[in-house]
Amino acid sequence: VIRARGVHKWYGALHVLRGIDLDVHRGEVVCLIGPSGSGKSTFLRTINHLEVIQEGRITVDDRLIGYREDGDRLVPEREDQIAVARRGIGMVFQNFNLFWHMTLLQNVVEAPTRVLGLSPAEARARGLELLDRVGLAEKADVYPRKLSGGQQQRGAIARALAMHPEVMLFDEPTSALDPETTGEVLAVMEELAREGMTMIVASHEMGFVRRAAHRVVMMEGGLIVEDVSASRVDESTGRVRDFVVRLH
Ligand code: ATP
Ligand code: MG
Repeated sequence: VIRARGVHKWYGALHVLRGIDLDVHRGEVVCLIGPSGSGKSTFLRTINHLEVIQEGRITVDDRLIGYREDGDRLVPEREDQIAVARRGIGMVFQNFNLFWHMTLLQNVVEAPTRVLGLSPAEARARGLELLDRVGLAEKADVYPRKLSGGQQQRGAIARALAMHPEVMLFDEPTSALDPETTGEVLAVMEELAREGMTMIVASHEMGFVRRAAHRVVMMEGGLIVEDVSASRVDESTGRVRDFVVRLH
């Protein structure tokens, strides 16, 4: 579903992605690990075109993200077309970015109502269903400031799911949480994985890797340096193993 080929990105003179190639198949859960500054967040952000790339191409469902073909050149896509492509890509960040002036339910129904044109009643019914799925049905009318970090993060997941994304990207979804609330967020993500969602998760939660991931991809210095099956992380002798051992 996701295909990255020869992706390069510079921030000014800083070469942060140095030729990323990655294929993620439908229903696959890929965990992205690597040292701070290796480019994990930047790479995730290029997938939904929150960051432009200077070389290479990324497709989601065979659809180019951010660019379109013009002969054999790529030219920047129109903003409205980028917005359409983005609908299929849900993203959850480290710092839960719910809208503070809206209740949880309003957060979840905002995009589907505005973009997909659902009626308020329909949107509300679907929003409640999603909140139920992440264990927050009883918090529908509560404002985010009254929710715990874990509840906010589950709310952010429900909001991303409201657009029926093809794929979900998670950037350190639990690193701002304490261990207890981390568990409830991981449980929601694991459920999503079991239901067959295609996911890329930048996270060093090895419990999640063992329970839900199919592959572990390690980045270093803007490159993918190892790509192993999640079931073989412990036996792997390469960089992944070294890195994981140092996490404990
Ligand atoms: P972490 O584990 O700390 O989240 P990361 O692997 O997600 O790290 P990135 O955030 O992708 O790493 O950063 C990769 C490199 O790009 C770093 O050297 C960082 O300083 C640089 N960088 C990130 N964002 C910007 C930006 N907006 N402008 C300039 N440089 C940036
Ligand atoms: Mg990061």
